[in-house]
Amino acid sequence: MTAEALMMACVSDIAGMIRGKGFPAAALPARVARGVGWVPTNVQITCFDRIAPTPFGSLGDLVLWPDPKSEVRVDFGDGGPVERFILGDVTGTDGSPWSCCLRSMLRRALADLEAETGLTLYAAFEHEFMFKGGGPAGAAFSLDGFRKRQRFGELFLGALRQAGLSPDSFLREYGRDQYEVTIDPAAGVAAADQSLVLRALARATAARLGDDITFTPLIGPDEVGNGVHIHISFRDARGFPATYDAGGRHRLSRTAGAFAAGILKYLDRIVAFTAPSVVSYTRLTPHRWSAAFNNLGDRDREAAIRICPTSARDEAGIARQYHYEVRACDAAASPHLQLAALVLAGLAGVREGLETPTATTDDLSLLTPEALAARGLARLPTSLAEALDRLERDETVRSWFPDGFVEVYLAHKRGEIAMLEGMDAAAVCAAYAAVY
Ligand code: GLU
Ligand code: MG
Repeated sequence: MTAEALMMACVSDIAGMIRGKGFPAAALPARVARGVGWVPTNVQITCFDRIAPTPFGSLGDLVLWPDPKSEVRVDFGDGGPVERFILGDVTGTDGSPWSCCLRSMLRRALADLEAETGLTLYAAFEHEFMFKGGGPAGAAFSLDGFRKRQRFGELFLGALRQAGLSPDSFLREYGRDQYEVTIDPAAGVAAADQSLVLRALARATAARLGDDITFTPLIGPDEVGNGVHIHISFRDARGFPATYDAGGRHRLSRTAGAFAAGILKYLDRIVAFTAPSVVSYTRLTPHRWSAAFNNLGDRDREAAIRICPTSARDEAGIARQYHYEVRACDAAASPHLQLAALVLAGLAGVREGLETPTATTDDLSLLTPEALAARGLARLPTSLAEALDRLERDETVRSWFPDGFVEVYLAHKRGEIAMLEGMDAAAVCAAYAAVY
């Protein structure tokens, strides 16, 4: 008997999961032409696999359109099945836009940014994750810690390379059996696609080795967090770097500065998209090297947006390397929705002509809310419920998204919160570690 090679058409959903349907790999051209059936209420399947309140009920049909540019084919060479999946956008059966398609939401936001600024956004998602039931604390950044997971790292980076990503580094992070992987930037939607592919291939590699990993934002109440840091830079229409300006405040170009200012102005309302789990808000507390305030930092790992270091000695080299990272993000989110929210807020900052913020250098946790406000700063929401309330109350931010989307999102996330009722902090962390 000859086995039938299968592949899967996938979307990135509100729960930050990769869901979709499988079909014979040989049928890919036909599937690209006629799509794969999809269901509106699937968007309300929470990370705990129970369905949150849904406005769609059992009604309606959608089409998932596999995008050949996003096809992943990775042969681990171990005799197991070839890892094969493809991402896509979702529309109505008549081709009309679907208000909850996160990938097309990102594509539209990027197109608006490009049309209004002439700049293309490049992004790289840096991920931290942990091996579950893992080793003792210690061994941070050590050769022993590196060697312990070197086999994993080599297979994983090889898989990323086969999938068309360009790995930059793999390292033993500070937390318990925690590792970090960075990749080179990609333009536009591809950057979010690559984050999804990276998460999927990390899990695929772990499965091949019998390891169990998690990207959960927080594995236990007193543990180190797993962040996603979204590195952002811009290039102009000729492909020249457009993030750096030697004369700008903090050496940021006018557009890059206004874009960062927009993200920071609206961060307390969009963090519900970028750090969307209950445990995300324990990670986003002071002195965890994540982000607890809406501040810009110059090489400060406690800032919501951190300007990253450069190593070049010449102006052209510095301009090429110059960029910042948004740290108030984690892997409970869809990378497409995360980046869409950042682009929409950043673009609002550009439209409003916001000035580049002044980078903070002090410990903001020592300041009163009044002292923070006097400097245009605020503590980020301290719970998912509060983050959702702030999003709901802001008509402007809601208007950036397709009609009805924010209502669906709020119902999804409030449903998720209700599913955790009665659990203590450790049980909530365990519930998320089991699914992310
Ligand atoms: N683990 C930290 C976080 O939750 C980040 C540590 C670092 O790489 O600076 O974002
Ligand atoms: Mg790190």
